[in-house]
Amino acid sequence: MKPKKRRKRKIKRIRLLILVIFMVIFALVMGKMKAKKKKDFAPEEQDFAQNYQEDISTENLVIEEEEKPEIHDWRLTLVNHENVLPDDFEISLTSIDKIRKFDSRAIGELKQMMNQMKKDGITNVWVQSAYRSVEKQEDVFERRIKDYMAQGKTHEEAEMLVLQTINKPGTSEHNLGLAVDFNYVDYDFDKTAGFKWLKENAGNYGFVLRYAKEKEKITKVDYEPWHWRYVGTEHAKQMNELGMCLEEYVEYLKKQS
Ligand SMILES: [Zn+2]
Repeated sequence: MKPKKRRKRKIKRIRLLILVIFMVIFALVMGKMKAKKKKDFAPEEQDFAQNYQEDISTENLVIEEEEKPEIHDWRLTLVNHENVLPDDFEISLTSIDKIRKFDSRAIGELKQMMNQMKKDGITNVWVQSAYRSVEKQEDVFERRIKDYMAQGKTHEEAEMLVLQTINKPGTSEHNLGLAVDFNYVDYDFDKTAGFKWLKENAGNYGFVLRYAKEKEKITKVDYEPWHWRYVGTEHAKQMNELGMCLEEYVEYLKKQS
């Protein structure tokens, strides 16, 4: 090989080497810059990640809420201003006496409770009102509205007035066949020995005071010392221990499951 050609080749190699070195330096600088950039934005990215995570968890919560299982226990059927008795609700009734009827599955415990009360010397407590059909309640409701309208009220005014004293048909626990009113609708019932006995013992037979004074804001029903609801012994005992009304207890059970 001629010396001139060899020199040319050497120069070519040096040029190539310089190019490679330059490219390596360029790659390193770029890499560093990229790393710096990443660091600069890291907190924001973190925020975004956190928000995103929060979004996901909120979404999950909503899904959980939707998928929350319903309580499938006939004894805990909630009937109130928000929960109308389902149209397909099937009921099997057994007579308490000539007039009054109660749910066939729970009447045994009602009778046991009444018998025990008598044995304990309380003989002045009776079931005044138990099951009421929705149809019958509708009749009463409409009749009362007509009465008010005859006095010059509009239909709307009349309905408002009627609702102050009786439930809209299908929203009364008496439609369920699982509630009883003892004696007369009288606030002084809570001063009687019978009421005291019920407070102490009704839970053993699956009954709870449904509309307690301290729960008025939740039940949306004024205190009713005479109205007792069957929920079954284990639920009654738990409700009493937890100090919960039925609305609270059903929510509590949903969260547990
Ligand atoms: Zn009642």
